[in-house]
Amino acid sequence: MKAERRNAAGVSEHRLDREAGRLVYPVVSRRSGGLSVGVNLFPDLKTCNFDCPYCEVFPFPEARPFSLARFESELGEFLDEGWAASWAPETVRDICISGNGEPSLSPLLEEAAALCAAARSVRPELLGGARLVLITNSTGFLSERGRGVLGRVQDLGFELWAKLDGGDQAAFERLSRSRYALGDIVEGLRIYAAERPLVVQTMLCEVEGVSPGDGEMAAYARTVAELLRSGARLSSIQLYTLARPASGGACRALGDAEMLRLAEVLSLALASAPAEGAPPPIELFGSRGNIGSEGAPGFGRAASSGSGRAAGGRGGPAAASESA
Ligand code: SF4
Repeated sequence: MKAERRNAAGVSEHRLDREAGRLVYPVVSRRSGGLSVGVNLFPDLKTCNFDCPYCEVFPFPEARPFSLARFESELGEFLDEGWAASWAPETVRDICISGNGEPSLSPLLEEAAALCAAARSVRPELLGGARLVLITNSTGFLSERGRGVLGRVQDLGFELWAKLDGGDQAAFERLSRSRYALGDIVEGLRIYAAERPLVVQTMLCEVEGVSPGDGEMAAYARTVAELLRSGARLSSIQLYTLARPASGGACRALGDAEMLRLAEVLSLALASAPAEGAPPPIELFGSRGNIGSEGAPGFGRAASSGSGRAAGGRGGPAAASESA
């Protein structure tokens, strides 16, 4: 198992493992708060129905497609040997299905998820506290079949982190470069989250010189508020910016102060929106780590100082990376 690599800014270079065709790649993740065991369902070809300009999946030469047998072998190899050799005593925070594309497009998603759940259940000492996470661009929620697949994955013990980039069609198109209508994505989220809780994750970054401003954030807040009002169960909202170079090259990370300011726009709007119960907590991830969580000491105060507190994990403050 390869040791972790970092670029000149100290950010994990796990994409090298993904590009080398690995199905399992350890990474220090901002959003996981430490060591995350990434699962790549598409080692041979990026497979996605979005074309996000901030996507971190670069072209890669690798002929072998995903196979359940190879995945089970690689996962066992890392958990039983690679972790002790290269990462101990770092706690494994999660096993995360993400990798080079949209997981719900894989015909082997359910089987791969079941292998993750089984691997966790037979290694209680190493993985007893580890979460199972699936990161999706939310297009799987558009169909009843897709919602069924994702629901069965969630029933295995997975948290679903669902992308919602933008609160109006223009912002959504800028960030997804897709043919989808934001209204359809939101409706899919609403239907699914009426039954099961979701974590919403939203990228905030500059694209070709255009940054999300207060107006866009207000539109986003209205969209989230409408979801909540209609009964959607959102367990948290993750706002994050770029941590590493994007394959499109036209994106730039927002600074911590701007992230905090936009989070406060959202927080204030949700606090005043009519909805049952308290709004979901907001977690903020700047380019170099976790800036804070709503309600936590420092949330908001750092907006004026421009400072942030970095994620924990291997390498401490410099560690800031996760799957695309
Ligand atoms: S960031 Fe994710 S959803 Fe967007 S193009 Fe890349 S793999 Fe697809």
